[in-house]
Amino acid sequence: MKPLRQVSQSVSIDSGQLQCRIDAIASLGGTRLAYTPADVEARSSVLEMMRQLGLKTAVDAVGNLIGCRPGRLSLAPIAFGSHIDTVRSGGRYDGVLGVAAGLECLASLAAADYVSRHPLEIIVFANEEGQNFGALCGSRAMIGALSPEDLLRVDETGRTLAEAIKVVGGNPRQINSAIRQPGEMAAFLELHIEQGAVLESVGAPIGVVEGISGISYTEVKLSGMANHSGTTVMDLRKDALVAAAQFVMAVQEAARQGGCRVATVGRLAVHPNSVNIIPGEVLLTVELRDVDRNKILETRRYLRDCGRQISERTGVGFEFTERELIDPVPCSAEVQQAIINSCEGMGVRYHRLPSGAGHDAQMMGKIAPMGMIFVPSAGGVSHSPEEFTAREHCALGAEVLLQTILRLDRDEGRGLE
Ligand SMILES: [Zn+2]
Repeated sequence: MKPLRQVSQSVSIDSGQLQCRIDAIASLGGTRLAYTPADVEARSSVLEMMRQLGLKTAVDAVGNLIGCRPGRLSLAPIAFGSHIDTVRSGGRYDGVLGVAAGLECLASLAAADYVSRHPLEIIVFANEEGQNFGALCGSRAMIGALSPEDLLRVDETGRTLAEAIKVVGGNPRQINSAIRQPGEMAAFLELHIEQGAVLESVGAPIGVVEGISGISYTEVKLSGMANHSGTTVMDLRKDALVAAAQFVMAVQEAARQGGCRVATVGRLAVHPNSVNIIPGEVLLTVELRDVDRNKILETRRYLRDCGRQISERTGVGFEFTERELIDPVPCSAEVQQAIINSCEGMGVRYHRLPSGAGHDAQMMGKIAPMGMIFVPSAGGVSHSPEEFTAREHCALGAEVLLQTILRLDRDEGRGLE
């Protein structure tokens, strides 16, 4: 058995090989919507990489592509991975980095002839982006959260999710066989590009994710009175758009002044939306995100109060309909500490931050201790062909992933067995 220090020194990521893997996947086109021929091609290219590494490969019932490297002991596997499907005209690194880096970690261990205690499992999740059928299909199925109704959802061609899953080798009739119970996975790690500009702005090459933000969606209907814009004097108006403007400012201020982390009015519809009619009705959406559920709920209550106050001033009625609350998912404290120890062991600067975007890791967090590692996205750009992460940041992220896997596998895996 090789001691950890010796292994950490002798096992390291080959940055050139990592870029080759990223290039090989990215060269298959920037639009790889899940279950399309481009996605199928990318999946077979990754399957081939898994086979070349001697991994035991499988496609589970929902179409997740899984490669396993046996461990020395019969323990639950340490899993890691990400996705290779994209949005329309997506970038080269979103998802792909986590998959390419996971493969490179396994290649490094093979090259060093090192066998971990735990089996190691790389997972390429099916349909993360959800351009069709909704997001996080593969990881949701793994925790038993993909419903029979989900399987009947159709894309623009009329194809159901169940039919699409068969195209990538899944078996929708046996969908429950993809479920992993709590305890069946010792830990889950995902390396991903940040998709924001925080790391770049603080000058840290590694982000230690504290949790994945929860999201609240609320629809607000403002009812004023439509009337002639020339004959209705200012004091007698009930202008729904003027009230909406005040409310939009209140939403922004709520986040700026320590409410939830981000708050956005992303959609606004004005009726009748005519040049010479006072707006009688406005429909708008409020999206709130934070890793703390209570902050989301407090901000919701605060904004209802703001609505009441604006209503008193303007005579415009406010009606709130809360549409959805997706719970935040905290990252495991032990896994975060293992990532931090890896960074400190390597002398790498890190910054702790929440994830504003959703990831497969948030589903895995419900059944296993979960952690995420971020690397900078140049200019904070993602979901775009302009997406870029520097070669050295990709390699550093992969190295931190590898060292964290080794730490979790060895002395810092308290309770992971
Ligand atoms: Zn992604």
